[in-house]
Amino acid sequence: MGKAREHCGLFGIFDCDDAIEKVYYGLYSLQHRGEESAGIASTNGNSIIHHKNFGLVNDVFTPETLKRLENPHAIGHVRYSTFGSSDNIDNAQPMVATYSKGEVAIAHNGQLLDASKLRKDYELHGSIFHTTSDTEVIVHLMAKPSHVERPNLSHVLNHLKGAFSLLFLTNEEMVGVRDPNGFRPLSIGKLNNSYVLTSETCALDQIGAEFIRDVKPGEVVYVNKDGLKSESYCSPRRIRPSYCIFELIYFSRPDSKVFGESVHLFRKRLGMKLAKEFPVDADVVIAVPEGGNSAALGYSQASGIPLDRGFIRNHYVGRTFIQPEQGSRHRKVELKLNAISEVVRGKRVVVVDDSIVRGTTSRSRLRLLRKAGAKEIHVRISCPPHSFPCHYGIDFQIKDELIAASHTLEEIREFLNVESLGYLSVDGMLSCTSSPHNHFCTACFTGDYPVSYEYVGKKTFRKEVKNRKGVTV
Ligand code: SF4
Repeated sequence: MGKAREHCGLFGIFDCDDAIEKVYYGLYSLQHRGEESAGIASTNGNSIIHHKNFGLVNDVFTPETLKRLENPHAIGHVRYSTFGSSDNIDNAQPMVATYSKGEVAIAHNGQLLDASKLRKDYELHGSIFHTTSDTEVIVHLMAKPSHVERPNLSHVLNHLKGAFSLLFLTNEEMVGVRDPNGFRPLSIGKLNNSYVLTSETCALDQIGAEFIRDVKPGEVVYVNKDGLKSESYCSPRRIRPSYCIFELIYFSRPDSKVFGESVHLFRKRLGMKLAKEFPVDADVVIAVPEGGNSAALGYSQASGIPLDRGFIRNHYVGRTFIQPEQGSRHRKVELKLNAISEVVRGKRVVVVDDSIVRGTTSRSRLRLLRKAGAKEIHVRISCPPHSFPCHYGIDFQIKDELIAASHTLEEIREFLNVESLGYLSVDGMLSCTSSPHNHFCTACFTGDYPVSYEYVGKKTFRKEVKNRKGVTV
């Protein structure tokens, strides 16, 4: 893995004649948030039916499997695992369970920090877990007798710590939740009279729905035959907005509006700021597609250096039957990208990218440019160096794997074999947002974690990551 990967994408719609088709298209738009597995759970009000499998949305669902699902209520999920083994289909979501209150389907984006501890407690008391996913802990919490007696979910939600945007579907209602920090996005939309909940607004555009608002940190919304009811499930003291700024920098689609911000315009501002912080005499600005596109445009506009396409991306790599894993990392990069030598040969090239996490993929990409004849390569990164791991649902979880955690700027430049390297500053990055700066999580850049991850315990955490990856960490 050279680039960071998002945990999951969520999409749900309630009371819609073609809910299944809408969720299918919604998930299709959220495919970038999880390419490992996909699933839909649906109900006609009597019973929850679901289908999930490994693969892209297009591979998992066929006209036949879609036909077996039931309208008019459905939720869906695309996944890449940050917690729990990725080769166990039971870990794919939505997770469907039956407990004393009936059936429920759950879809989760984020990472629960106290999952291992809670799980151990339940197992000590005789509970049996069917998956290794942190999400199953929620099912056990819901089934706990003292929680079942409560009229709503608040008690369960107050036991969860960490990052969680959640969708629940029962035979009566669809529920959306955001953790008190609001790490991961979750938006409300409306299509005619049907409410929609989605990780990103690009999925609303896809189905022709209108954006209403974001679910607030610490808010739970209940959607049923009476419409939408909202309540805050935790005390105001616990609500501390800490939106993941890396959602804006890297994960979300540029045509989405996330945390009240147009992702494309935000990234363009990052590029403009970068041009101010790290100017350079050069002939051409190019982006590492797709992530660097908007910031490269901003860099070019602010610097006056013309923008051109220096890399072409092969969009079909994911579909080759010779798995890229079988080749070297460099071979994988070559399969995905090619440099246009006519654009870069003999030129001083500014290369704008959205991040360097481990550094190896970046080095292979830059090697392509050198091979194509670039005279000078000046790398500009539209975020600060990643020096700290993320414990809130993104897959860079081990400090040793982050190049900036153990190398100086000069060492990274040497490793990349380029003439110059500049990362945007933390202040520069935050100055591009429209929300108060303290409403963002910047922990992977600053080490300032908004929620303590000591709940996990370092040893347990490393073991979980090791199990997921099947490698020594
Ligand atoms: S640590 Fe970084 S990637 Fe993780 S939630 Fe915070 S800003 Fe996002």
